[in-house]
Amino acid sequence: MTSRSDKEKEEKILQNLNQYQKKDFSFSSGHILGSMCSQPHPIAKKTYIQFLETNIGDPGLFPGTKEIEQKFLSFILNFLKAPKTASGHIVSGGTEGNISSMWIAKQLTGKKEIILPESAHFSFEKIASLMDMKLKSIPLTAEHTMDVSQIKHNISNDTAAIIGIAGTTDVGAIDPIPEISDICTDEHVFLHVDAAFGGFIIPFLNQLGYDLPTVDFSLSGINTISLDAHKMGYAAIPLGTLVLRDESWLKEISVNSQCISTQKQAGILGTRPGAPVAAGYAVTEFLQNKGYQQLMQTIMQTTEYTIQKITNLGLELVTKPTLNVILVKVNHLDEIINTLAQYGWKVNKIDHLSSFRIVIMPQITKPIIDEFIPILKKTCKEVGEL
Ligand code: PLP
Repeated sequence: MTSRSDKEKEEKILQNLNQYQKKDFSFSSGHILGSMCSQPHPIAKKTYIQFLETNIGDPGLFPGTKEIEQKFLSFILNFLKAPKTASGHIVSGGTEGNISSMWIAKQLTGKKEIILPESAHFSFEKIASLMDMKLKSIPLTAEHTMDVSQIKHNISNDTAAIIGIAGTTDVGAIDPIPEISDICTDEHVFLHVDAAFGGFIIPFLNQLGYDLPTVDFSLSGINTISLDAHKMGYAAIPLGTLVLRDESWLKEISVNSQCISTQKQAGILGTRPGAPVAAGYAVTEFLQNKGYQQLMQTIMQTTEYTIQKITNLGLELVTKPTLNVILVKVNHLDEIINTLAQYGWKVNKIDHLSSFRIVIMPQITKPIIDEFIPILKKTCKEVGEL
């Protein structure tokens, strides 16, 4: 039983925490415009709390949650056209997905060099440092994608893996994954596709008839794909998946695990929350394939709408967006970002392209954009951009 003094204590702590939370921006307000994460789907919020105490790092204690994990993975394996030999491994997000894949590639090949586009996420710098690997950067084309003509002559006896990006962090560009896959097949090189952002949108848009590069296991050169449900999957943080063409590769990143309910444990983390997995599964059950298709179509329509509104103000984009990532080129970058923040809106700075990033995530609707555009106009006028 909770005593009166405990109740008072609890209320005081919660009030205090609220004061801190008020300082945060929130996804649910729609005012975070630059992040690649989103407000979780309502069913994810409910499920998260229900599964708060589960640990999938010790699955013998939580066999039910382990089953949920398998069902969630089946949904992903299905839309990524993974073969029967494939398996998925839950990770905390794109960083851990990339680290885990490169760990496998290094173990399988005994080699240390990673060939990757200049647009690769900074998690690869962590990989180089953590695993004593070397990064070989490939320049980009004018479309901000990996220049495939530069790959072959960079392959050496020490190449452990090639990386293709499906939805780059800065521009949302998609590397020519089918061509990269062909090169990897011909040259017998391990291919990891970092689809942290694009993995939950590109396959559904392609199902709808969009003409985007294929990003799935029908391309025989792909070994692993990582994709984050906490980005375009409308799920709750932290939830990523590394999908492996061959389940046996998990052995390469497994150790004996005494004192828990399984003999072996794969991957980097030990204790892992089951709550985001159950929440992610609930979202996939709620939306199903059709629901994801509809969501992605709406997002692309809102992206078009936003592009129109921004260019109508007289602002220019860095490039024509392939996905739902819009980069606005400006001269007064810092002033614009800071002034927008003062007005309560957050966009992300993409310094090397002198631009700010807007990502149309599920909670960013046309009414939100209608609210934002006058603020953007006012801001640009104030700082002398317009
Ligand atoms: N890969 C790509 C392409 C990303 O855009 C990101 C993050 O935005 C990551 C990896 C890292 O993901 P996380 O921050 O969830 O670890």
